[in-house]
Amino acid sequence: MITDQKFVNTVKLIALKNALEFNNTIRIDVVISKIFSISKEMGASINIKDLVPEIKEITSELGSLPVNEKKTLYDSITLENNHYLKDHKDDTGTTNNIQKDLENKKKSTSAGNDIEFELPNLEGAVQGKVITRFPPEPNGYPHIGHAKAAVIDEEYARKYGGKLILRYDDTNPQKEKIEYYSAIKDGLDWLQVKPDEIKNTSDDIVKIYEYGKELIRKNFAYVCSCSPEVIKRNRLNAIACKCTNNSIENTLSEFENMISGKYNQNQAILRYRGDMTSLNTAMRDPTLFRVIKGGHHPKVGSKYSLWPTYDFAAPIEDSLDGVTHAFRTKEYELRNELYFSILDNLSLRKPRLIEFSRLEFEGIPVSKRKITPLIEQGIIKNWDDPRLPTLMGLRRRGILPEAIRKFVLSLSITLSETKPSMEILESFNRKMLDSKAQRLFFVKSPVIVNIDGLNVDTVEIRNHPTLDMGKRKVRVGNIIYISNDDAIKLKIGDTLRLMDLCNIEILSIEKNLIKDETNENEPNIVINAKNKGNEISHHMPKIQWVSKSNSQNYKILRPLPLYNGDNYNENNLIVDCGLSESYISKLELGTVIQFVRYGFCKIDDKSTAIFTHR
Ligand SMILES: [Zn+2]
Repeated sequence: MITDQKFVNTVKLIALKNALEFNNTIRIDVVISKIFSISKEMGASINIKDLVPEIKEITSELGSLPVNEKKTLYDSITLENNHYLKDHKDDTGTTNNIQKDLENKKKSTSAGNDIEFELPNLEGAVQGKVITRFPPEPNGYPHIGHAKAAVIDEEYARKYGGKLILRYDDTNPQKEKIEYYSAIKDGLDWLQVKPDEIKNTSDDIVKIYEYGKELIRKNFAYVCSCSPEVIKRNRLNAIACKCTNNSIENTLSEFENMISGKYNQNQAILRYRGDMTSLNTAMRDPTLFRVIKGGHHPKVGSKYSLWPTYDFAAPIEDSLDGVTHAFRTKEYELRNELYFSILDNLSLRKPRLIEFSRLEFEGIPVSKRKITPLIEQGIIKNWDDPRLPTLMGLRRRGILPEAIRKFVLSLSITLSETKPSMEILESFNRKMLDSKAQRLFFVKSPVIVNIDGLNVDTVEIRNHPTLDMGKRKVRVGNIIYISNDDAIKLKIGDTLRLMDLCNIEILSIEKNLIKDETNENEPNIVINAKNKGNEISHHMPKIQWVSKSNSQNYKILRPLPLYNGDNYNENNLIVDCGLSESYISKLELGTVIQFVRYGFCKIDDKSTAIFTHR
C-alpha cells in the first residue's frame, strides 16, 4: 500500500494517545478502528485492510518508549500539523488539552503554531548578573551530549541577559589535542552558541597552584606517596595512610618539589583532607594534584608537569570566573559535597550547582569507550560518519542545529535517566526541513515500465508542492522506471498514477530478458502499461518514477543505531541503490532534499545521499 508521512504521523498520534490514556499500552485494534473512522480524510480509495501491516509496523516501534517520551513525541507531532487529525478533535479528543498542557512550559511566538520552548526559571537568578560556563575537555569531538550542555548554558545566560564562558577544561596534557579545541569551537559555531568569553583552565595553572598551597597552609591537604594500589585499597576500606601525619612545612616543600618536576607519575599526589570514613566515597581524601609527564600540552607545552584534577580545578575556576549557576550532569552528584567543601575551606564564593541528565540516544552511545575503538579499528572511518552522535555526524546526516536546540529545550533540565528517542529530534528537524527541501524522485531497485501511447517529451515538475521553489523540466520517453517496492504490489489491470506525469494501466509483467548484468541497477522485470490520461483521481495509488532519458545511478546510505543493547550492531548501515532524476547533479553537495515517498536526504557526493529521516 502506498503511504506518506502524513499517514505515518496520524497513526503515531492515535497510537500514542491510546497509550497515554491506557496504562502505556497501545491497543492495535483501537488504533485500526480510529484510522477507519478518519479514512475519508485520507482519500476514498483507502482500504484499511491493506494498511494493517503498515499500522502494526508503525505502532510496534512506539510500544517500548517510556511514558514521558511518548508524551514528548505526541506533543511534537501535534505541533507539526502534518497529520490528518487537524479537524478531528472529537475523534482524538485531546488536541485542545495538549495545547493547554504545552502552554504551561512553552510560549507561543508571533508565528502562531510555531511553539518556543522555555527553560524553567533559575533559583537565585538576577537579571543581568547570571554567568554560566560550558567546560568541555578538549580530548575528543563534541557530540549530542555536549550540545545539550552548551545550549542550556547559553539559553540561561541569554534568558537573564548574562554571560556565557567557554572554558576548555584542559588539565591532562596526555589527552588534550589542538584539533579538539577547534572541533569544539566549530561545533559551537554550527549550533550558533556564542560564548561571550573563551578561556582555558591551563591559563590559570599558577593560580591553582597558589590555592593548593593555601589549602596546605590551612592543613586541608597533604602529599601522599603511597602506590596507586594502596591508595585505592585504603579508600575502599576507609583507612587513612601514614602520609596524613606529614607536617605543614614538610608538605609545602614537597609540593614545591612536585611543581618543579622532581617526582614522576604516581610517586606523589596532593590529597585533600576530606573524611576517610565518609559514606560519600568522593570525600575520602580525593586527589587534588597529580604529576603527568611526557605529554605535550597544546597550550602550555611541557612547561608544567603537575596538574590539578577536575575535582580541584572546577570549583576554583567556577568561583574565580564569577559563575553564578554551574550546570553539570547527574553523574557528578556525589562530588557536589567536595566541590563546596573546597570552596568553603578556601573562603571562595560558591556558585549554585545544577544537575541535569546526560543526553544520548538509544543505541547511539556517546561514551568514548564505545565509540573510539570503532574508529581505531577502522570499523568506522571518520568522526563525521552519519552513524555517530558527534555534531559532525549529525550535521552530515542532515540534522539542523536549530532542531538540536529546540530538541534540547523540549527535554528541559530533567534528571530522568531515560534515553530519549531519536524520533523526537527527527520530528523537530522534519518540520524545519519541510519548507527548505526540494522534492525529487528516487526509485530504489528500479523496474522498467514501457508506456504505450505516452507521447510526452518533457514535463515540468514543481520543486515543492506548496512553496515557490521553481520548477524543473524532465525529459520523458516511453520508458520509465518505478521502484521494485511498488512494482511487486502491481497486478495486470491495475491503474495507478505516476506523479506529475499521467495515469497508467498495467497490461503485462514480464521477466527482463535483455538484462545488462554489468549494471547493478538493471531491473529484473519489465512492466508494459498504457497511458490512461491525466485525470487526477483519489482512487489511484500515486507513485514516483524516473525516466530512462533523465536518470542517473544513485545510492542512499541509511544509518541505523550503532549498538543493539551492549552489542555492536553489524548491520548499522543500509545502502539503497537505484536511480535518481539527473536534476540532482545540479544541486550543491550538502543540500537537503526530500525524495518523495522515501524521506529527507542530504546530498553527500555526486552519486550518494545520506538518509536523514522519513
Ligand atoms: Zn599515603
